[in-house]
Amino acid sequence: MSRIVAADLEAIFDGRGHPTVEATIVLESGARGRVGAPSGASTGAHEVRAFPEGGAAEAIRRFPRSVAPRLANLDAADRAGVDAALHAADGTPEFSAIGGNTATAVSVAAATAHAAERGVPLWRVLARPGVERASFPAIVGNCLNGGRHAIGGPDIQEFLAFAEAPRPEDSIRAAVRVHALLGEAIHRRYPALALGRGDEGGWVAPIGNVEALELLSAACAKARDELGTSVHPGIDLAASEFFRDGKYRYRDRTLDPEDQVAFVAQLVDDHGLRYVEDPLDEEAFDDFAAVTRAIGDRAVVVGDDIYCTRVPRLERGIALGSSNSALIKVNQAGTLSDTFAAVDLARAHGLSTVTSHRSGDLPEGWLAHLAVATAARGLKCGVLGGERVAKLNELLRLGRATG
Ligand code: PEP
Ligand code: MG
Repeated sequence: MSRIVAADLEAIFDGRGHPTVEATIVLESGARGRVGAPSGASTGAHEVRAFPEGGAAEAIRRFPRSVAPRLANLDAADRAGVDAALHAADGTPEFSAIGGNTATAVSVAAATAHAAERGVPLWRVLARPGVERASFPAIVGNCLNGGRHAIGGPDIQEFLAFAEAPRPEDSIRAAVRVHALLGEAIHRRYPALALGRGDEGGWVAPIGNVEALELLSAACAKARDELGTSVHPGIDLAASEFFRDGKYRYRDRTLDPEDQVAFVAQLVDDHGLRYVEDPLDEEAFDDFAAVTRAIGDRAVVVGDDIYCTRVPRLERGIALGSSNSALIKVNQAGTLSDTFAAVDLARAHGLSTVTSHRSGDLPEGWLAHLAVATAARGLKCGVLGGERVAKLNELLRLGRATG
């Protein structure tokens, strides 16, 4: 038995400099796991609460009395047991007493300690039924930031490189190349402009959505020519962020829901998009289904804010055909068990999953293991910046270990 003998929760900063928590779980054998939980900015309304009232400091204050005693002597190998203890310590459906970030940090730290004790990579103890060998996800890499993740960028939140190759070194190289080529193209077009980078390490430039897509698809075409790797443009619209009073309000146009469906389908056609996330508001299950029908199998259509990695919302989306893929963020759901319930449901109904970072992430690599363990279609973790590169490098290491 991998008996838990100590559990701690401490304060750290996320990639935006906001306070969050990291958990340390120590086993009787001396093996330990230390894991931090990231934070979002364009959070879905149906995510569990990241922290109790009072934020990370309050989560840390409550931990020794309300959580740690429930973890003592549990078997870290018994994920269901650890995660049930977290739910029991909380007692609310939204983790509003102990915080979803506490649940995420403890749940992943317990699994990390268990893997360390067994001397196996984390993905092996997380592997879903049927996942026996490591296969590698496409890289979904953020090359240009907008929306809530940038000051002064386009309305669309993320302009992405969707890079597919059997070996992570090839897909990562392609995503990195697109990022560089896009920066060069923006600089060539606007030589006087000071280019910055946003929350997820993509460029920030005061350009429009369509112009950004033109430059991105040209950068992808060039990278394909140079490297011979399949890399195509993608977007995360995070459309809830600019949906107000029944309309999608871009800076240069205002669209009714039917026009938004047509606009997004047209973007897929015009720019060869292979990845489209959150094209509609988080409550628009039927409009999501309309866009998914219009796009067909030309692109991975991914639900993020609409599902929030939560089983009841995913069930509704599956029944209506709202998307062909689901974004997976552990701290939207709370624990690993909650996350796997969503992953398993998606897979059982033929939806792919895309394992995702948060915009305020940490320089930790465990997300790469989660992607491999769930045979994810994609690993969405950005391209540049320490907290993004940590995940890409971990995927590289896993590629080498199995190559
Ligand atoms: C996203 O919307 O996919 C995302 C990563 O943003 P955030 O972490 O801000 O929710
Ligand atoms: Mg998103």
